[in-house]
Amino acid sequence: MYDLLLRDATIVQSTGRLVADIALEDGKIAYVGGSPGGKAKEEVSAIGHFVMPGVIDGHVHFRDPGLTHKEDWSTGSRAAVRMGVTTVLDMPNTVPPTVDAKTAKAKLAIAAERSVANYGIWIGATADNAKAINKLWDDGVICGTKLFLAHTTGTLGLDDDAVHKLFLDSKGLIGVHAEDQRLLDKHHKAHAKEPRPEHNDVRPPEAAAEAVSRLVRLVRETKRRVHICHLSTANELTILEPLFGDLPITTEVTPHHLFLSVETWQGDKNLIKVNPPIRPELDRRALWTAVKRGRLNTFGSDHAPHTLEEKAADYWEAPAGMPGVETLFPLLMNAVKHGRMGLERLVEMCCEQPAAIFALEGKGRIQVGADADLILFKEGESTKLKKSELETKAGWSPFEGKEIGAPPVRVIVNGHTVARNGTLMDDLPKGQAVTYKR
Ligand SMILES: [Zn+2]
Repeated sequence: MYDLLLRDATIVQSTGRLVADIALEDGKIAYVGGSPGGKAKEEVSAIGHFVMPGVIDGHVHFRDPGLTHKEDWSTGSRAAVRMGVTTVLDMPNTVPPTVDAKTAKAKLAIAAERSVANYGIWIGATADNAKAINKLWDDGVICGTKLFLAHTTGTLGLDDDAVHKLFLDSKGLIGVHAEDQRLLDKHHKAHAKEPRPEHNDVRPPEAAAEAVSRLVRLVRETKRRVHICHLSTANELTILEPLFGDLPITTEVTPHHLFLSVETWQGDKNLIKVNPPIRPELDRRALWTAVKRGRLNTFGSDHAPHTLEEKAADYWEAPAGMPGVETLFPLLMNAVKHGRMGLERLVEMCCEQPAAIFALEGKGRIQVGADADLILFKEGESTKLKKSELETKAGWSPFEGKEIGAPPVRVIVNGHTVARNGTLMDDLPKGQAVTYKR
C-alpha cells in the first residue's frame, strides 16, 4: 500500500512537463506514470497543480553551533521547509568553525537532533586542514570545502600561498566566496573615515571580478572543480562567459542579488548590507539575462540571518548578511509569474543542477527510487510577504510587504507532508543527512 498518491500531477523538469500519477512509499518515490494498480492511504487530486522536486539550497548559515541567538537548526530548517526548501547545505562559519572531523561531526549531530529539512555541511578551508578535508570528502561527510578569498568571517581567510596549496593538496568540490582581499583592504582604507559609506564603495565590483579572474587561473592550472558562490556583477559574468562549459566551474546566484539593487532599495541600508554587496541595477539585470540564457547553474539563498538589534548598529559595526531561505522559492515563483524565466529553468537551477553539482543521492529528480522530497504548487498566484508569518529566528526579511509567489500548496519531505499553503504541520519528522555519490 502506498502512503500517498498524487493523481494527474503536472511534473516539471528542465526538459519539459508531463502529466502523471506519483506514488510515495517509505519516504521514496515508488511509482511515476499512468494510474498505478495499488491502493494508497491518502489520495490527492493534483489536477491543475504542478509538482517539482524539493528545492536544494546549497548555501545556508543556520548559525548553529555558537550563534543561536540569530538562528538554529530548528528555526532555520522550519523556515526552509515551510517554503519548499527540503534540503540545505550549511556553511562552516559557525562557532566553533567547521574545519575538522570533530567540528563536522558535532554539527551533523546537532542537525540530526534539530533539523526538519534534509541536511549536509560544508567544511571551511584553513591554512593546514587539507588532510582532514580529504578524509571527510572520501568518507562522504561533507559536500565540499568553502574557501573565503575575502576574509569576511575572521579566521577562515587564506593568503595566496595557502590558497594555491589548498588547490593542489585537497580533494573534492571547492565553493568560493570570490572577493579580492587586497582590493577590499584598499577601498576599506580609503573610506575608513566616513561614518556611512556606500557598501559598494567599500567592497567594489572590481574586487569580485579580480577574484573570479584569479580563480579561473587556478582552475586552469589545477583542474579543480570550483563552485563560485553568489555572483553579483556583470563583469564576473563577462569573464566567465567565454569559458562556459570548458572549465569545471559552476556558479550560484542569490535572490537578494536578483531582486534588490542599490537604486531601488528604500529602507535602512544596513538591512541589505551583505557580502558581496547588493549592486546597481545594471548588474542585477545582467544576472537575470544570464539566468535566462542558462549561464548560471544554481540559486542559493546565502541565508545569513542577523537580529534587527545587530543590524541597528552603525555601518561599520552592522554585520553583513540577511535571511533568505524562506523567500527563495516564493520570490522565484513570482519571477516566473512575471515572465522572467520558465518553470523549467527554475527546476533546473533549484533542483537538478544542485543535486548534480553536490552529487546528492536520490535528490533533484522525480523518478522511481528517488527520495520523496516534493513541492505541489500552483503557478501564477501571488501574495504579500508578511513579517508575522516568518519562521526564521531573525524575524525579518528585506522583502516584507513585497509581492511574492503564493506558498506551495504542499511540501513533502521524505514522504511526509510538512507544510500546506505556508503553514507548518504540528509534528514535523526529523530530516535526514544527505548522502553523496563518491
Ligand atoms: Zn554565505
